[in-house]
Amino acid sequence: MASAPHSDDALFDDFLETNGHQMTTTRWEYSYNKKQCPECGGIHSEDARTCTVCGWKPV
Ligand SMILES: [Zn+2]
Repeated sequence: MASAPHSDDALFDDFLETNGHQMTTTRWEYSYNKKQCPECGGIHSEDARTCTVCGWKPV
């Protein structure tokens, strides 16, 4: 089985990729080069670390 195209790690990555969008978002989204809070949609500057609107922050 040395020629198996996918390792377990690759399958796990696929799993995360497929399901990641339905889970709690852990990263900033971007809108017009501004950070956008995935929880409330608030727009923040590049150096923002937490959302000042709803308090969300990247995990
Ligand atoms: Zn927010």
